[in-house]
Amino acid sequence: MILSDTERKIIESSIRDIPDFPKPGIVFKDITTILNNAKAYGVLMNHLYQRYKEYNLDYIAGIDARGFIFGAALAQMLGIGFVPIRKKGKLPYTTISEKYSLEYGVDEVEVHIDAFSAIPKARVLMIDDLIATGGTANAAANLINQAGATCVESCFIMGLTFLEGIKKLEEKTPVYTLIEVD
Ligand code: AMP
Repeated sequence: MILSDTERKIIESSIRDIPDFPKPGIVFKDITTILNNAKAYGVLMNHLYQRYKEYNLDYIAGIDARGFIFGAALAQMLGIGFVPIRKKGKLPYTTISEKYSLEYGVDEVEVHIDAFSAIPKARVLMIDDLIATGGTANAAANLINQAGATCVESCFIMGLTFLEGIKKLEEKTPVYTLIEVD
């Protein structure tokens, strides 16, 4: 199930570009303008539901923080559980963590050690709003696998194709992006 041209136009036109945020040279893709537009948010969530209802998924894993918004809503629509993958130090129970490189320095994401343990070899869809360098998503996919589950696909509302993130992540999991930005 791929996005129709009409659906793509509705979603794309509801994303707002904010130049030079959070620092000069970055064009920030603002998805709050999808969320506060009931029609666009509905078209987006309905598309995700139609695509993933046949995937036989056990969980959705959403990446901190905008992945929670789409991921938790989709999990409810599909009738399955939601697992947050969080930035270091936010999850209260025992975690597994994975470091990844940023332009300057390192960052770390974590998941609860038992997040997927109710279902052996759980089939997991990972979701976030955007993939840029792919560092966050790569680390998150590693966490899902280390926690004993299988990341069957990674889904992003937007992919920045001028960076190599999608290609890199595709070595690990299939990648689905609704909108490619170049
Ligand atoms: P990366 O690890 O480089 O793929 O960065 C992905 C994470 O950073 C995602 O959680 C995005 O929400 C956020 N991000 C990176 N670049 C942008 C951008 N231009 N606009 C909005 N969010 C971004």
